[in-house]
Amino acid sequence: MTDPIVLVGGGLATGTAVRELRGQGYDGPLVLFAAEPHAPYERPPLSKGYLLGNDPLDSAFVNEAGWYDEHDVDLRVGVPVESIDVAGRTVHTAGADLAWSGLLLATGATPRRLALADESGAPVHYLRTMDDSTALKEQLVEGARIGVIGGGWIGLEVASAARRAGAEVVVLEALDQPLLNVLGSEVAALFAQLHREQGVDVRTGVRIEEITTVADRPTIRLVGGDTLSVDRLVVGIGVSPTTDLATAAGIDVDNGILVDAGLHTSAPGVLAAGDVANVDHPVLGHRIRVEHWDTAIKHGTVAAANLLGDEAVADDLPYFFTDQYDLGLEYVGNPGPEGFDRVVVTGDTEGPVEHRAFRVWWLRGDLVVAGMHVNDWDAIDRVRELVGTEADEAALGG
Ligand code: NAP
Repeated sequence: MTDPIVLVGGGLATGTAVRELRGQGYDGPLVLFAAEPHAPYERPPLSKGYLLGNDPLDSAFVNEAGWYDEHDVDLRVGVPVESIDVAGRTVHTAGADLAWSGLLLATGATPRRLALADESGAPVHYLRTMDDSTALKEQLVEGARIGVIGGGWIGLEVASAARRAGAEVVVLEALDQPLLNVLGSEVAALFAQLHREQGVDVRTGVRIEEITTVADRPTIRLVGGDTLSVDRLVVGIGVSPTTDLATAAGIDVDNGILVDAGLHTSAPGVLAAGDVANVDHPVLGHRIRVEHWDTAIKHGTVAAANLLGDEAVADDLPYFFTDQYDLGLEYVGNPGPEGFDRVVVTGDTEGPVEHRAFRVWWLRGDLVVAGMHVNDWDAIDRVRELVGTEADEAALGG
């Protein structure tokens, strides 16, 4: 009997890969290990639809509950893989060793901890897992005062959900603007403005001196003297790729698991996908590790094909989206280590949120390195068309 293909991780990359393996005709044994007690799920609902109360938790599952049995997949939830033997082609769990014929590592990422918050004894939320989202959702209620540390994607989506629930929100961001490193100062300012218009107290360039618990409430003292008292703290200060298993197995790791364009790691027969995979990107021409939904799906598909002996490449440009209040955006591209030297914004950035619709182009010389639309939903095809090409002002305006 052939050894199974083994998938490690309970996120969108394995959830997609397992479906693709069956979809692409593989009828051999398949084992999927998820460390959490849940079948593979995707994360956007955890900070958007589910957190907002618009969608049920079940909407986050990648495949329907009965799918695994129907497709003869041995789904082992709540079972962390403890080690991998690359030469012996086995994985080890607390229960047993299991031989594999092919192995996919999609171990994701782990929230960076804020020691000042963790050591304060205050109630602190991080948002990564389904259970994190459920616990946070219970706290987002009318009149609650929520302190959000970090003005990145988690921080701003949580702020949006908290305001929707009628909570008061203060966002504390270390940089001069929220989302500064992704969007650049001009466009990041539009997001700071959006949140302020919605009643969020957005504080930028902030340094936290101390967090204590006073009368059961987290109390944050900022460098410079201001003190804020909140009911709950949410920390969203980025993530680190979860590479311990790969490192211990001797697989090459550097800001994630190093993979080629086909998602092959340095160990024969072992692939990596999703947030943890640092890919030698064939189109961008540099390595990139993308922590977004779309990449997990694309990687899952490429990994499945290559586990079956194909030569697929992960060559899609990075894509992400967000929804905050009545504003949604889609972004394509990546400026890479050389960055951008110019930003062109076309359309309407002012006025009532629901009427705001604009496009943003990031350029290096005439090369469009990234593009985005905000509430201009027909524009995504144009964005995909122009990113990676040289374009003049007329093309960008059209
Ligand atoms: P993030 O997007 O990297 O943002 C974290 C922010 O917190 C950064 O602006 C960071 O500044 C700031 N920060 C770091 N240390 C801080 C401190 N001590 N005090 C205050 N601010 C601090 O990470 P995230 O928001 O935690 O999200 C986690 C992951 O989930 C990311 O990979 C993200 O892409 C993903 N996610 C994506 C979406 C989406 O695609 N819509 C939604 C939610 C989450 P520096 O840049 O200087 O570190």
